[in-house]
Amino acid sequence: MQTLTTDVLVIGGGATGAGVAWDATLRGLDVVLVDRADLATGTSGRFHGLVHSGGRYVVKDPPAADECSAENGIIRQIAAVAIEETGGLFVTTPFDDPEYANRFAEGCRASGVPCEEMEPAQALRIEPRLNPRISRAFSVPDASMDVWQLVWALARGAQERGARVLPYHEAVAVHRQGDEVTGARLREAHTGEELDVKARVTVSASGAWAGRIATIAGIEGVHVLPGRGIMIAMNHRLVNRVVNRCQMPTDGDIIVPVQTVSIIGTTDVHTDDPDDHTVLQDEVDAMLEDGERLVPGFKDARALRVWTGVRPLFEDRKDDSTDTRDVTRAHALLDHRERDGVSGFLTITGGKLTTYRLMAEDTVDAVCRQLGEDRPCTTATVRLPGSESGHHHHIGDRLGRREKTLQDDQLVCECELIPRRQLEDAVRRRATHSMDDIRRLLRLGMGPCQGGFCIYRATGILHGLNGMTAEQANAVLLEFLNERWKGTWPILYGDQLRQVRLDDWIFQGVLDVAHLP
Ligand SMILES: Cc1cc2nc3c(=O)[nH]c(=O)nc-3n(C[C@H](O)[C@H](O)[C@H](O)COP(=O)(O)OP(=O)(O)OC[C@H]3O[C@@H](n4cnc5c(N)ncnc54)[C@H](O)[C@@H]3O)c2cc1C
Repeated sequence: MQTLTTDVLVIGGGATGAGVAWDATLRGLDVVLVDRADLATGTSGRFHGLVHSGGRYVVKDPPAADECSAENGIIRQIAAVAIEETGGLFVTTPFDDPEYANRFAEGCRASGVPCEEMEPAQALRIEPRLNPRISRAFSVPDASMDVWQLVWALARGAQERGARVLPYHEAVAVHRQGDEVTGARLREAHTGEELDVKARVTVSASGAWAGRIATIAGIEGVHVLPGRGIMIAMNHRLVNRVVNRCQMPTDGDIIVPVQTVSIIGTTDVHTDDPDDHTVLQDEVDAMLEDGERLVPGFKDARALRVWTGVRPLFEDRKDDSTDTRDVTRAHALLDHRERDGVSGFLTITGGKLTTYRLMAEDTVDAVCRQLGEDRPCTTATVRLPGSESGHHHHIGDRLGRREKTLQDDQLVCECELIPRRQLEDAVRRRATHSMDDIRRLLRLGMGPCQGGFCIYRATGILHGLNGMTAEQANAVLLEFLNERWKGTWPILYGDQLRQVRLDDWIFQGVLDVAHLP
């Protein structure tokens, strides 16, 4: 069996794990980063897309507001490639307690979250689809994020500094020698091959799965309660800023414009299983109703897709056995040497995507303490690959680029403006057989047709480049269609239903995909 040796093994390739890998390599440590699936396919790849200004927490949780506000300022600089500076609004609709707006303004002042009140008429001028009956409006520096750009920039940066990044490698055992964790056994998802990693420190950055990783390391009492939330992507930007209802945080009170769509969310339902992606029809209906309160006519717009994510809510039963129900949304760093007498092992969980960098900094500080080495953190100032110019993503950028090459490159995905050369580069770079991996990199098939017009073309190109057999290419196509279907069926109404029928005719009627060899 192959054995890799490293300073730091990071289990979990979401924003936190990739952030830990980048931070540790910047400090000169050797890193192996692994995920049981592709990077950012856990909660990070299923989040709402909001870089919090902190406004959401100024009344309910001021320390979280401070943290978000500070990190928001930092990640705009270092991760510009993944961020669109949309700005955000908090608006009081007729459904909200009018008193809350004063508490909100006071909370922003106290927390230092930049916030400016504007006349409702002005808010309506800049966001004409907003409920015309809003009575107060505040602007805040919310932003939106393409998480796959972020996570792959972190991973690429780490790789450039020598890290080994292994998607599709599940940690199936954590090695212990007495009171020390010495690494883990990994299993490759496609071949079933196993390999060992020997590490001086093992970091579990496995989000909602952190309790399970702790258990296989023989450590009890790491309770991560998965909180499941649904989100719905509408087929275009109904708003160009993040819009939040000015009220105590609740379900369905934020719409975030992300790339070409706007996303409403979210719910928060306790589940026992972090892999539970149930979508209930009631939740979908309630979410569309909630959208209606912020943007009248929301329900009549075209819903493209629904999906769920699971929040890693950490509950430390070991530290405070008298208060087991106090579930915090702040991040939790567990140094198992201090907590359980087991050295070489740390768990980082909880928190928010907005605070991934801070979580990584705290974690790698603890790694250095365990190693007895003084290596200062530099992630607050070093820009990620692709963000060197500090230019933020802008919705018109892609079209601008495409217009320059329209004559000499073929468009494969019209909805998301993906030319053939870009697709071919991505296939070569990722050396993958999965169209879903490519989708996350390029947004292939994420537009209104949900892959209906592009995915058979893209599969043909993948087939040609990868030397796959026809059977393998057919399997890739079917896998992609099945994945897309999961997010489509719960919101089948109106124009999207027509679109899905058309896609179905193409794939079943013309290509007979269900009976391909
Ligand atoms: C519905 C919803 C909406 C949200 N919206 C926002 C928002 O708008 N803004 C914001 O800032 N935050 C938001 N959050 C919170 C944020 O998404 C999470 O806090 C963050 O993504 C967690 O990242 P992570 O890297 O810690 O965990 P994850 O992204 O879940 O990463 C953990 C990884 O561990 C891997 N893993 C598990 N077991 C193993 C194993 N045995 N071996 C190898 N790998 C393993 C998983 O595959 C996964 O990729 C939202 C959360 C939810 C649920």
